[in-house]
Amino acid sequence: MLKKISINKISELAAALMGKGLLLAPVKENSGYNFAEIKNPNQVDLDFHNTIASPKAAFFPHKEDFIKYETGKPIGAASVIGLSLPPTFLFGVRPCDVKSFGIMDIHFNASGIIDPYWKQRREVTTIFGYAFDLEKPAETEEFYQTLGIGAADPEGSDVFMIKKGDDLLLDSVTAKGEKLLAELKNFAEGKVTDKKYYDEYIKKGREYKTRSMCLEPEAITKKLEDLFHNTDFWMGVSSACLSCGICTFVCPTCYCFDICDDTLFGQGTRRRVWDACMFTDFTLEASGHNPRTHVYQRLRQKVCHKYSFHVRKYGVISCVGCGRCTKHCPVNIDIYSIIEDAMKA
Ligand code: SF4
Ligand code: SF4
Repeated sequence: MLKKISINKISELAAALMGKGLLLAPVKENSGYNFAEIKNPNQVDLDFHNTIASPKAAFFPHKEDFIKYETGKPIGAASVIGLSLPPTFLFGVRPCDVKSFGIMDIHFNASGIIDPYWKQRREVTTIFGYAFDLEKPAETEEFYQTLGIGAADPEGSDVFMIKKGDDLLLDSVTAKGEKLLAELKNFAEGKVTDKKYYDEYIKKGREYKTRSMCLEPEAITKKLEDLFHNTDFWMGVSSACLSCGICTFVCPTCYCFDICDDTLFGQGTRRRVWDACMFTDFTLEASGHNPRTHVYQRLRQKVCHKYSFHVRKYGVISCVGCGRCTKHCPVNIDIYSIIEDAMKA
């Protein structure tokens, strides 16, 4: 089902979705755009290229409480913190970021232990993917074309949106999306010409240029295995790294976390918080031993995890080429250039 709405009236669509549940959408902040819970339908702003942080927090919040307990009481007295989630609409997600949810599903929902928090959030959420504007050039840091992702790929979304002049075309991709669009009765259906425009736009998105190199997962996996002990290579590419962890926090496919206990006046909370393999103490063991004391070891871990270990274990590269890690790195470390250099080494 194809719907059409004037972009000027996007707040009406936002209001309709807010009437059905929780709406998460890009909003303008001082330093750029980020996904946030929408309190006022006028906040929704589709005039962005991509958000600073990825939308992964919609399913994997920065901080999540699991258990409440009282210190000194038996473990059986502790209570699990469950979720009570409203229908959620994640609105305006770029195709490369939509792709990242499938990669994260491998870890939280498909390979052994299921994470109930991730799973429940995924189940209640309807994803509105949003094509990049093909009239504008890609940002220099982006390279999703290298990973086989198009600028207007609808796969992974429930509803997919493209701009057509001053209008927004919304097409259903899944049965969930179809049902939702059918319920939005106040919005006009697209015409045959709109459908034709939509289909051509999706096709053109495959040709849209970002940085691109020919990259075979097996070839880069093998190359990084061969380079693993080449300390000169890894010291060279990591020499400026500050171990700040920004690249991992903004990344849609980084999922490391720590579990900590917060206790005050006998009341305790066990919670999960984001962690990062780029931090100096990430691998610090209780004995005091740290197998990754050097910066080069940590950057090597991040790159090899995404482009080598992950391929060996799950068959896919764990990077969608969104370019956030490069764009927000304070010292311009560029994972694309590292992969390019590795392939030439
Ligand atoms: S490693 Fe960088 S380019 Fe790849 S998904 Fe993460 S932030 Fe995006
Ligand atoms: S953002 Fe840059 S400086 Fe910070 S940890 Fe990542 S690579 Fe190092």
